[in-house]
Amino acid sequence: MDMDRPIILPEPVYRSLIRYCSEQSPREACGLLLGSEAQGALHMERFVPVPNIAERPKHHFIMDPAALIPFLYPSPGEPAPAGIVHSHPRAAAVPSPEDLATPWSDIPSHWIVSLADPCTPVVRAYRYEAGGRKYTELTWRLLRGGSGQAGDAESSVQ
Ligand SMILES: [Zn+2]
Repeated sequence: MDMDRPIILPEPVYRSLIRYCSEQSPREACGLLLGSEAQGALHMERFVPVPNIAERPKHHFIMDPAALIPFLYPSPGEPAPAGIVHSHPRAAAVPSPEDLATPWSDIPSHWIVSLADPCTPVVRAYRYEAGGRKYTELTWRLLRGGSGQAGDAESSVQ
């Protein structure tokens, strides 16, 4: 899998994850981004909120496994889990040591939404190395427009 392919986040998907994280604050929110490969880019198609079942949800997140199961084995042609999102209600959008120890390091992108300044959420994406110490920031692009479908102004990714 090409780890350096561009990541495209349509604006409606971006807005839905910001909205959900804001609603859950001061608890950490979490969820999945479902995406598909097309034309050499990874297109995020949908944000799926997942309940945070951590005992101290203001400080940790644990995704509810029961809520994940329906999305883990998509049929051919359906979008697959391509990103894990969680929020930092008060901290910067930088992975914590605990974040890096995730059992989901295989997922190609890990997104952190910082609500440290609630008026200006910061969204950053990372790739985590297996073993839980290193990460690389990923670049992603907001695809402006309502539908996120091809034909929008910025969809001419090669
Ligand atoms: Zn975190």
